[in-house]
Amino acid sequence: MKRAYNFNAGPAALPLEVLQKAQEEWLDFNGTGMNVMELSHRSKDYEMVHNKAIALLRKLLNISDEYEILFLQGGASTQFSMIPMNLLLEGKVGHYVLTGSWSEKALKEAKKVGQTSVLATGKDNNYTTIPTLDKVELDSDAAYLHITSNNTIFGTQWQSFPEVNGAPLIADMSSDIMCKPFDVNKFGMIYAGAQKNLGPSGVTLVIIRKDLIGQAPESVPTMLDYKTHSGNNSLYNTPPTLAIYLLSLVLEHVDSLGGVEAVEKINAEKAKLLYDVIDGSNGFYNGHATPDSRSTMNVTFTLQSDEATKAFLAQAKEQGFVGLAGHRSVGGCRASIYNAVPLEHVQALAEFMKSFQKNY
Ligand code: PMP
Repeated sequence: MKRAYNFNAGPAALPLEVLQKAQEEWLDFNGTGMNVMELSHRSKDYEMVHNKAIALLRKLLNISDEYEILFLQGGASTQFSMIPMNLLLEGKVGHYVLTGSWSEKALKEAKKVGQTSVLATGKDNNYTTIPTLDKVELDSDAAYLHITSNNTIFGTQWQSFPEVNGAPLIADMSSDIMCKPFDVNKFGMIYAGAQKNLGPSGVTLVIIRKDLIGQAPESVPTMLDYKTHSGNNSLYNTPPTLAIYLLSLVLEHVDSLGGVEAVEKINAEKAKLLYDVIDGSNGFYNGHATPDSRSTMNVTFTLQSDEATKAFLAQAKEQGFVGLAGHRSVGGCRASIYNAVPLEHVQALAEFMKSFQKNY
């Protein structure tokens, strides 16, 4: 069996070791004679999986006791609504930095709930650059500042996070969480759909500072109030048990590699391989992002014509590369090289890009 060269944007590649471990345990998890999916979410065996995932997240991301770790459903998209419903209270303003379609969507949901303001936007330059923001002083009516740490569609990424005074910084880290170490303490809240760097789709990770929980107005539905989930260890209702199990295996795998620092080194090497091909192509390949805002997770580029792009994607497909078409809203090409994409697969893509240029 040959594994595909999987460059999907999400759901995306999972570590082979994780899939193999899940396969080994598929019919009999921990001597229970059941698959994890068949366990009661109130059983000791499932609870062990659930709590192990939380403990590993605390360890790998260095999350202090000041923060709750929640496993929610509804994708990162539901967080676009839950954040304002819980935190954008009467008389407050939700501030947003727009760096692509996902931050636009987050803003759109906040507007349905309360007052918003756009602090900075990269829309005018077609989201090729992350706005420069080092220090942000927010007024006393600020509810929070929301950013998207990595822009999956445009291939840009914050290289460092701003110092924010006056209100909590909230980040959608769906497409780059755990790609490199970062200081959780800079944030009031972090959230991420699991299906890129953390595991399969179906579970959304929320890391939220405890003082931000319990502020939602009475009118907020029970399931959309962070307090409901934090007060019940994310077991108020049936959690996505299989997704959380696979997440726990991914976390164990990252731990076994030497943690997030080790993963960062491999990610840097992988990204350099592709950007070097783009930069050395004499304009045959054009990177969408400006070099100072390039993502190590989603490498976006165009060729000089639609015809060349079509030929590139067709030949890539023939050679076993999957998921290289750019997002339907921007076109071109995109290679998503999340944590679980092996270095060798990125090397193979870099070689393919060079040989395509030579032969086209
Ligand atoms: N934010 C970002 C940065 C994303 O890349 C995505 C999905 N690609 C989302 C939010 C939406 O996530 P979900 O599909 O889990 O709602």
